[in-house]
Amino acid sequence: MPKKAEAPPERFEDMDLSKQMLKALLQANYETPTPVQAGVIPAALDGIDVIGQARTGTGKTASFVIPILEDLLPKREAPDTQALILVPTRELAVQVRDEVVKLSATRRVNCVALYGGKPIRGQIEKLKEGAQVVVGTPGRVLDHIARGTLKLGDVWCVVLDEADRMLDIGFRPDIERILRKCPEDRQTLLLSATVPPPILRLAQRYMHEPISLDFSVGDIAVETIEQFYFTVDHDRKFDLLVRLLERENPRQAIIFCRTKRGVDRLVRRLSKNNKNVDCIHGDLAQGARDRVMRTFRDEKLQILVATDVVGRGIDVSTVSHIINFDLPAFCDDYVHRVGRTGRMGREGVAYSFVCSDEGPQLTRIEERINMLLKRDEIEGFKGSAPIIEEAAEATEKAPPPPASALKRRPKRYKRGL
Ligand code: AMP
Repeated sequence: MPKKAEAPPERFEDMDLSKQMLKALLQANYETPTPVQAGVIPAALDGIDVIGQARTGTGKTASFVIPILEDLLPKREAPDTQALILVPTRELAVQVRDEVVKLSATRRVNCVALYGGKPIRGQIEKLKEGAQVVVGTPGRVLDHIARGTLKLGDVWCVVLDEADRMLDIGFRPDIERILRKCPEDRQTLLLSATVPPPILRLAQRYMHEPISLDFSVGDIAVETIEQFYFTVDHDRKFDLLVRLLERENPRQAIIFCRTKRGVDRLVRRLSKNNKNVDCIHGDLAQGARDRVMRTFRDEKLQILVATDVVGRGIDVSTVSHIINFDLPAFCDDYVHRVGRTGRMGREGVAYSFVCSDEGPQLTRIEERINMLLKRDEIEGFKGSAPIIEEAAEATEKAPPPPASALKRRPKRYKRGL
């Protein structure tokens, strides 16, 4: 069994944190640690490699940002980058950078986000000023390494955030290349919503006797998120969506489509009658993506249509409704999509549109979340029932890595290196 955090601290004050950090937490209005923070922070402060199974919305970002900030060395001792945080998307890079900025409000820390879609020159300038913490997508990080603008010799902590998603979108070779260039005695923290075998293999190769902390139990959208499905014919999905939005009048909704073209098409149709709709996907220029995310976060936008890759990183606690206009291709994506609502203990609801040929997909999703979605109906929109074949193959549960005892591995600075 993956290890459970033993008697985790209930207060930040019990975590051996600096006064500066406690002040920054107060300013950020973080009163008590979330379970992920209570589990990961003490282990990370002890220099232990951690595999933390947690989805976004659980406070996982601060769980690695806090220990990193606490152990940064003075610049005269380590002039180059000391902590490298790898993330799958630009949005997440920006979010993590913002969290670093928020939690370092009481000290001087330079943090740079490196991601594609932005001119490299500005990033090079910022790196030249000295960035103790770098957050980046693997491709762009490699680019900077190759140019010699990012130096990894002082790196003592590497974070792989949303590791499952990074592997899903093909970043594995890039990640491995980066890890091989980092000092071997570094600490590695891996955060992932799921821990399938490829993640375990990566951990076995590149981590030092990691402990596994599982915060996923019961988190899979079960407790606070009500989940429904509609059966609908393909050509009536749009009309059903319109009726559903009328019925629900959501405070804020994210509608997921499988493709960028699908997103564009849906936004075009929806915005004929509703001006409060916008979209986000990988083909949009970075400036446009930032603008949309800002208006959504400021609650000036009611409906956001998104694809999985960019939708996944959205961290907006006011989202009340998730609508899966298209079922996701992978059932883990269902978990990630639905996890966009019900954040920080709020209530949320998720609706999935299921066509008659999508019965097996629905079954796989239900197996993944270990519950049945409730069927919902709107007058006049009853599609043919999904054809449920023999239960789809159960998703294989990844065996946990060998749970080594809580072994303390001193950090570089503790060894006086
Ligand atoms: P994350 O899972 O890192 O994406 O965090 C989700 C949201 O929770 C972010 O908006 C954080 O600012 C917020 N958050 C993180 N930790 C805490 C905490 N201890 N108390 C209150 N809010 C928090």
